[in-house]
Amino acid sequence: MTPGARRLALTALALGALACSNGRTAPVDARASGASAQPAPAAESGAALEGGSAAPGAGGPTAALPPNEMGVIPVLEYHIIQDKVFDEFERPPARFAQDLEDLYRRGYRPVNMSEVLDGKIQSLPKGVSPVVFTFDDAAPSQFAYVGSPASVDPKSAIGMWLEFQKRHPDWGSRAVFCMLPAASAGHAFFGDKGIAGQQTAWRLIKVKWLADHGFELCDHTLWHARLDKYPDTFVQEQLARGQMAIDSAVPGYKVHSMALPLGMWPKNKPLAWQGSWTNPKTGQTISYHFDAVFEVSGNPNVNPHLPGFDPHRVHRQIMSGNALEATLNRLDKPGPGSRYISDGDPKTVAKPAAVAQAAPAGAAKP
Ligand SMILES: [Zn+2]
Repeated sequence: MTPGARRLALTALALGALACSNGRTAPVDARASGASAQPAPAAESGAALEGGSAAPGAGGPTAALPPNEMGVIPVLEYHIIQDKVFDEFERPPARFAQDLEDLYRRGYRPVNMSEVLDGKIQSLPKGVSPVVFTFDDAAPSQFAYVGSPASVDPKSAIGMWLEFQKRHPDWGSRAVFCMLPAASAGHAFFGDKGIAGQQTAWRLIKVKWLADHGFELCDHTLWHARLDKYPDTFVQEQLARGQMAIDSAVPGYKVHSMALPLGMWPKNKPLAWQGSWTNPKTGQTISYHFDAVFEVSGNPNVNPHLPGFDPHRVHRQIMSGNALEATLNRLDKPGPGSRYISDGDPKTVAKPAAVAQAAPAGAAKP
């Protein structure tokens, strides 16, 4: 790396301008859509709501559409949770809380990416659809304490998640946190140096808390380096040290996923998911091997049963404006590209006739 490039990257992060964008324009400018997104009535959105109809053991709403385990799984992307919205990277707390409500009412339940890849979603109750939440950049607004670790900030994403779980116990502790251990402006395991009231000593406590409660820890490099700009050795150092930092909070933790800063690939693409780095000071070699690589944008393309599915190219959607509502309405339309809905039987893969007759690979194309 060059000191100049590093300084530029850190400065951009400090200004809140970097986040994870690859320059794509958000589907809808969040500033232009003040109204909260309500799920469209079933007749308008292509069906799918069956409010109050609980699946056995689920205790909450389920999808009205038939089971479809060839369907796609939405992967949502959040950055900063705050009222002031500058662009697509901020989500007001009230809108985030509404996102949870909307997903729940439509029959979605959160899962980790690792559970998608290892087949655990096959055990979801009948009528339930999986959704993967991802949180990038380890901002304090994702997970903040008020005064001490005994008190989670109710306006942080985790605070709202916990409050939601009290009302809906079948909403699990499942989401993927793609973290930076050492970026500026508090983007260091959810805050340090008093930024946003967060103490440096709380960083590893938070990371361990997430793992202990079932959330997935994901590598987003050491300080949000643009991996396309650096040589192979540097790319591997960024990812290996990101993994090392997670390991220092949760010794032995197996990191299954990474997110590309700015959605930019390294020149040598496979280094995004596999590589190693030797610490010149200690001689210790750190290897990493991630099952999933998160990109920044694209249409939903996740389901291991889909022909052509590539876990190293997982598309996500930035949650700004009414992007969630638009995505969910699209996934409620029957046919290829519709959403995954469990049949409640871990041993079978439910394929509705409309999906089986169409070319399933089409559902995976952006
Ligand atoms: Zn990022």
